[in-house]
Amino acid sequence: MSELARQTLQETSRKLAAREISSAAVVEAVLSQIEKLNLSLNAYVNVNADKARAAAKAADEARAKGDSRPLLGVPVSVKDVLNVKGQPCTCGSKILRGYTSPYDTTAIAKLKSAGAVILGRTNMDEFAMGSSNENSCYGPAKNPWDLSRVPGGSSGGSAVAVAADMAIAALGSDTGGSVRQPASFCSCVGLKPSYGRTSRYGLTAYASSLDQIGPFGKTVADVAMLLGAMAGHDPMDSTSANVPVPDYTAALKTDLKGMKLGLPKEYFIEGVDREVGEIVRAAIAQCEKLGAEIVEVSLPRTKYAIATYYVIATAEASANLARFDGVRYGARVDGEDPIDMYGKTRAAGFGSEVKRRIILGTYVLSSGYYDAYYVRAQKVRTLIQREFSEAFTKCDALLTPVSPMPAWKLGEKADDPLQTYLADIFTVTANLAGICGMSVPCGFTAGKLPVGLQILGPAFREETIFRVGHAYEQATSWHSMRPKI
Ligand code: GLN
Repeated sequence: MSELARQTLQETSRKLAAREISSAAVVEAVLSQIEKLNLSLNAYVNVNADKARAAAKAADEARAKGDSRPLLGVPVSVKDVLNVKGQPCTCGSKILRGYTSPYDTTAIAKLKSAGAVILGRTNMDEFAMGSSNENSCYGPAKNPWDLSRVPGGSSGGSAVAVAADMAIAALGSDTGGSVRQPASFCSCVGLKPSYGRTSRYGLTAYASSLDQIGPFGKTVADVAMLLGAMAGHDPMDSTSANVPVPDYTAALKTDLKGMKLGLPKEYFIEGVDREVGEIVRAAIAQCEKLGAEIVEVSLPRTKYAIATYYVIATAEASANLARFDGVRYGARVDGEDPIDMYGKTRAAGFGSEVKRRIILGTYVLSSGYYDAYYVRAQKVRTLIQREFSEAFTKCDALLTPVSPMPAWKLGEKADDPLQTYLADIFTVTANLAGICGMSVPCGFTAGKLPVGLQILGPAFREETIFRVGHAYEQATSWHSMRPKI
């Protein structure tokens, strides 16, 4: 495989700046890796080879004329939930077949204006609902470390693409773990920014109070660089925060002296796979060696997180997905009258997990049940938020597993949605609390399955979790391991 596809984002951008390599060559290297592997990994649902080649050529020409934007000519791939002007955006769903985006997602417009080349669209669970990528109308992406296993989800394709060098970097979205969990299953770095850190404009909404766009990279520094390019206030999204964006790359250090890192005892419970627990504990010991003080903290309401998340997320989804009715977007199945047409379109267009969630969300919002489920879930959400604020008075960041288990077999949990929901226990809390979280590769099980370390930080303190992740990464070599496919 060409070394150019294997490079990190930082290496790529440095070598492009030094004119040691051309953007055209990088794009060609990544395209040939996609050509070689996509049939077996199913990471991409759409590749814009011609447009990417043209954009790379234009970037090389601009560079020759003195253009020195940091991402100039760097190829980045995006999850199929993000709108890119002139491209299809199907969210892994049959209901959006034939739909073309009329505008750019703000995060993508920002990457483009920093010079990035948008290379292709990655596979995902339909409308970002799932943790295995098995709920995709294109069939599942496969885990590059073991093709019989899931890559995680819902941003499975983005994680696979980065881990298997089919992308230099990629974007995903994280509503309850969809960037961090596939990053941990595939062994790459994945970040969920704080709620409001990046604009959601152009991200097809799943659960608007939880959704954030997040970057995947080969290293923490790559993810820090991408966040710096994407973040900031956007008048098109009133929930994007009007706070300054720090220089994330400058915050990266190689030690953890003077830092306090918390271990929430409720995240090291029975039910966590033995090897996952051991690997994460070894990573924590490594952080201690780097100078951090480790303190135990308690987040007792973690046990309510799954129930709270699946009430709020499905309630919001039931409202957000009402717009897919055969009138405005994508596919339509004709009926005798409009009502009949809506029903037939939605029955044929949505997959079973999406239907399950629309029904559940409609139920928890219906009169008579609203107070018992939705209002109560909002109250518990506030308590979970307060618990995190309290924990962050005792430490700078928290260290936990990302998932209680490594990647499971394809089909293993397909008949039991509850088992899949329960596996989200350690990731949904960050979305409920609005804080930031990242998965960093921290080892492999005896069966050679990757394990991720989750680093959680207070809202708008991404620089803190980058510092922890980068220092850990500099002291270990897990992030440089590659699957043999
Ligand atoms: N697995 C969670 C769900 O199915 C999270 C998905 C996400 O973050 N988009 O809702």
